[in-house]
Amino acid sequence: MKTAVIWFRRDLRLADNPALAAALASHERIVPVYVHAPDEEAPWAPGAASRWWLHHSLLALDAELRARGSRLHLARGPTLPALRQILRQSEATAIYWNRLYEPAISTRDTQIKQGLLDAGIDARSFKAGVLFEPWEVRTGLEQPYRVFTPFWRKAQTQLQPRPPLPKPRRLATPAAATGLALDELGLLPRRRWDHAFDAHWTPGEAGACKVFERFLQSALRDYAVDRDRPDRHGTSRLSAHLHFGEISPMQIAWALDEGVRQAGDSARSAAAASFLREIGWREFSQHLLFNYPSMPEKNLNPRFDGFRWASKDAAAIRRWQQGRTGVPIIDAGMRELWATGSMHNRVRMLVASFLTKNLRQHWHHGQHWFWDTLVDADLANNAQGWQWTAGCGVDASPYFRIFNPVSQGGKFDPQGDYVRRWVAELATVAAPLIHHPWTDPAILRSTGYPPPMVDLAASRALALAAYQDLPGSDGS
Ligand SMILES: Cc1cc2nc3c(=O)[nH]c(=O)nc-3n(C[C@H](O)[C@H](O)[C@H](O)COP(=O)(O)OP(=O)(O)OC[C@H]3O[C@@H](n4cnc5c(N)ncnc54)[C@H](O)[C@@H]3O)c2cc1C
Repeated sequence: MKTAVIWFRRDLRLADNPALAAALASHERIVPVYVHAPDEEAPWAPGAASRWWLHHSLLALDAELRARGSRLHLARGPTLPALRQILRQSEATAIYWNRLYEPAISTRDTQIKQGLLDAGIDARSFKAGVLFEPWEVRTGLEQPYRVFTPFWRKAQTQLQPRPPLPKPRRLATPAAATGLALDELGLLPRRRWDHAFDAHWTPGEAGACKVFERFLQSALRDYAVDRDRPDRHGTSRLSAHLHFGEISPMQIAWALDEGVRQAGDSARSAAAASFLREIGWREFSQHLLFNYPSMPEKNLNPRFDGFRWASKDAAAIRRWQQGRTGVPIIDAGMRELWATGSMHNRVRMLVASFLTKNLRQHWHHGQHWFWDTLVDADLANNAQGWQWTAGCGVDASPYFRIFNPVSQGGKFDPQGDYVRRWVAELATVAAPLIHHPWTDPAILRSTGYPPPMVDLAASRALALAAYQDLPGSDGS
């Protein structure tokens, strides 16, 4: 009987899984495998919140496999010898996987593929986690794009939504030697700060489908406006599910397309386009990281290399991390992150702007904290988000556009509901004061909430002055 190994990585689903579908098309038996090898992703081994998600997602995948007569074989790296051993034990002659594009991973995967092909194994990889491989969308001069709008315009001309590949009903797996137990991978944090995560997330394919279905039925309609409102449930909350491949962007593109076809109204179509555009940002981040692999470490705009960051202030960074800056919407965001492993996109931009502009701390400090605490921590999206907000990216928010957290709070959290949800000290303060409680000293006295750690206007002026020093800066 022909047997193939399916090497699961960040494609932790059975539906619309091209590697799995291809293996099943030409093999009677499959061996589903996950190899834990964080060192091979250095210096970006998954952070603590990400490992929490991975633990639960592997558990969910194993349950889905068992329901179909199979199970997930777990192993520890180094990956190549681990895969060789599983191939030998199961007498498999082929191994299939879905591609990833981060620099360390794709270098490793190229070596693994060559090593296996040299040994006579049929090793194949597939496109599964993106709508476009990062080399598929090119400018007229065959160059990668550096600006989102033309990238997305071109990408949409190439997009061909197709029906998702079906979920297999049964999977025959040989009785190979048992692998490790999930707990042996040691993914759950030693310091348990994650007690509330369960209430917010259901990692795994079934959880992803449920979240997406709910979003299609409810929030999609008003997405274009509500996506900027942290006080509403206006976004999909799919980012971690997408990162771990529990749902594919093609499943999303197809469902949006179907929805528009069935409803046939222009409002539905505009809402779908607005949501797909955000999936487009995810594609753009992958495109940038693949074509500019130093993006997590280096400014994409080299003019920024001479920027006068303030020297590292560990105490200030800690106050930012702990949500004790004295600026309500910043503190709400940082506390939401700690409690849930996530933060609303608008607030991510505000806290990133506060750290890099008002405190003038290097964007790397924020990027690393997000890397460790976000359940959706993603090398491409995170680096892109930080470079965009800090102003040093390729298609970045101009540095001199410094978010004012008070006016942003008033605009996107007008009643203060978001701040009240996360900053318990301010639970009884009404809008608009809730976004600038320091203007009424009695509030600070009665609530114990601290005054702002930095003067917003003065720190803004200092940041602008530092920006003016950059070569070729046109300032305002
Ligand atoms: C400083 C900073 C850091 C960020 N770090 C990450 C990260 O590590 N991982 C991550 O997935 N996103 C990151 N983002 C992007 C964005 O904040 C999240 O994707 C979004 O908040 C997830 O919520 P959602 O799934 O409800 O989004 P929705 O609004 O429902 O969007 C749907 C999907 O589109 C993608 N998406 C949305 N916005 C963006 C964006 N700006 N860039 C790239 N993809 C996007 C995500 O996959 C998201 O799930 C970061 C943004 C900033 C400003």
